[in-house]
Amino acid sequence: MSLREKVRKAVGERDSLARMRKSFETIAERRATNSGRIPDLQPVKERVRKVKETSVGNEGLLAEAISSLRENGCRVVLVKTGEAAVDFIADEVAGHSLVVKSKSNVSKQLRLSESLSERGIEVIETDLGDRIVQLMGCPAVHPTGPACHLGRKEISELLSRHFGRMISDDPKELTEAVREEISGYVERAKVGITGANVIAAREGAIVIVHNEGNAARCASLPEKHIVVTTPEKVVPDLRDAIDVTKLQTLYSTGKVISSYIEVISGPSYTADIEKMIYTGMHGPKEVIVVIVDDGRQSLSDPESLYCIGCGSCLTRCPVYSIVGPVFGTPGRVGGLGVGMLASMGRLKEADDAGLFLCTSCGGCREVCPVDIDTRKVLLKGREAFVGQKLEGTAERDAIVGSVRNYDNPWQMPRARRSRWSREMALPSEGEIVYFAGCSTSFLFPESAKGAIRLLRAAGMEPAYIGSSERCCGSILRKLGETELAREKAESCYMNLAKAGAKVVVTSCPGCYSTLDAYPEFKERYGIEIRHISQILCEHLDKLKIVPVKAYGKVTYHDPCDLGREKAVFDEPRALLDAALETPAVEMRRSRSESACCGAGSGVKSGFGELASAIAMERISQAVAAGADTLVTACPWCFQNLRECQNSDQSVAVVDLMELLLSALSDQR
Ligand code: SF4
Ligand code: SF4
Repeated sequence: MSLREKVRKAVGERDSLARMRKSFETIAERRATNSGRIPDLQPVKERVRKVKETSVGNEGLLAEAISSLRENGCRVVLVKTGEAAVDFIADEVAGHSLVVKSKSNVSKQLRLSESLSERGIEVIETDLGDRIVQLMGCPAVHPTGPACHLGRKEISELLSRHFGRMISDDPKELTEAVREEISGYVERAKVGITGANVIAAREGAIVIVHNEGNAARCASLPEKHIVVTTPEKVVPDLRDAIDVTKLQTLYSTGKVISSYIEVISGPSYTADIEKMIYTGMHGPKEVIVVIVDDGRQSLSDPESLYCIGCGSCLTRCPVYSIVGPVFGTPGRVGGLGVGMLASMGRLKEADDAGLFLCTSCGGCREVCPVDIDTRKVLLKGREAFVGQKLEGTAERDAIVGSVRNYDNPWQMPRARRSRWSREMALPSEGEIVYFAGCSTSFLFPESAKGAIRLLRAAGMEPAYIGSSERCCGSILRKLGETELAREKAESCYMNLAKAGAKVVVTSCPGCYSTLDAYPEFKERYGIEIRHISQILCEHLDKLKIVPVKAYGKVTYHDPCDLGREKAVFDEPRALLDAALETPAVEMRRSRSESACCGAGSGVKSGFGELASAIAMERISQAVAAGADTLVTACPWCFQNLRECQNSDQSVAVVDLMELLLSALSDQR
């Protein structure tokens, strides 16, 4: 199935992920409550980020970890490829028909269980959620809550089929049935496989965090314990390792501490008889640590390797919330997983896993404990994809070709760009220049006229460069066409400078954030870029506003490019406050925590049904806030949200310019 088909199918079946979305909310609420119980949370986050920056790719540290682990009696192998890792583990397991295993993302990436099964070795997942998805034959949806999309009824049906007897949907009965079965396997197995959450180099210690107690049993009951891990798990010492576990626990489950933190530094042994070392006293005789590089050393950008695998970003991702693990691959779910594949140069695989599904909303970074800019990682991946001239989609090619040839994404004739301005009598030169942008010019000409009227009402006489206005290149940047985007942005600056611009005002957040992203052009051409909400807010005293009540209860949707990207949160709200009789209400997610509308970064053109499904989620948040009107300050958001206004029209989507205009006393 192609990605497009998978996305379409997932969108059609999105109700099946309702439980996953609910459990993501529960994690977020629990984390918000418990964060206060870690008074040094911010310093811990900063410390872990620093530790990651200095540890990832640090060959000396890796060598120290290997040497310490060996000194402690572990057998350590560093393997280059995933295939070599699987072969090595298969050789270690040879002669045994059963292996018990606990949670490990790396093993999912390697398809280790499947590969061992193909070689006649039965692999039993011992984590309840992992065992459920193993029996169900479906992908895990979250690193620590693999089966959180399934309800107790489905699990009861699954287990009843599996055990050949009725297992009720009582969670106690469900867990007991699985526990009994797994206990039998663990007692019989001679080999246990686990992952490692962190490895402390100085002490040579493997740290495993878990709640169920299964990882401890896999690591201590069988004769042989195989740890499958990767180089980026290595940190300098145990104190750093404990810092990582604190964040992992809080951000993956919302809890302050997990039930178990195992610190394993070698095989079980005793020296109680004549001080002679005897291994395998109660635990394993052998601990084998398999460190799989699998392309990590050659990563173009290490950022994705700073990830501690908490899965918090998934809980905020508008794309993941609709399509789940379609966005990603096993063990590499969501934007960061795809970004990691792209950073490893596996661009075709990354494309198939959703390299171009991300809306570039930046929501994931807000909740990442190590401040990973996943959006940037993905954009770099797109840039590499384009750089290697890999085959794109017809939609992406059409957008890029259109911007290249027509200076807008929709193959509209250039001459139509300035049509909206015909009756506005705008000067073509001046210090303040209005930049309409493609969407406003071609799709929402009334909004452009409204912007001019508002600027005039605020005492300004903006100039407009008409057909000399170019596409700012926003969509090109987001599709990885970095060079062409830069050319487009510079041609905008050149033409604006020719018109004498000192301040460029735009009503499009995409144009604002894009033009503002080139400090060298701003400096060279002496131009400042502003969003219209900022300028109007500064001149609010000059606007003759009579507050209106026609819109009922109003809520404001923060466009990602304006809010999270440029931190313009207050100005649109101040304008709304002035224009409304009743103060606007906030949605559950607003300001830096705002949810995306789903249209950005080419998602609307490439995956229209996904963009609509995300918009409907956002509209449902406005409904939940009791709003009659959802206002936004971005033409892209406006278009996507308005197209998805719920069928009974209980929420109207309105452009901020339109609302402000209706409140101007002389426009009434
Ligand atoms: S930027 Fe937004 S859409 Fe992209 S991965 Fe992050 S949360 Fe998901
Ligand atoms: S990118 Fe950040 S939030 Fe996402 S799993 Fe990694 S550490 Fe957690």
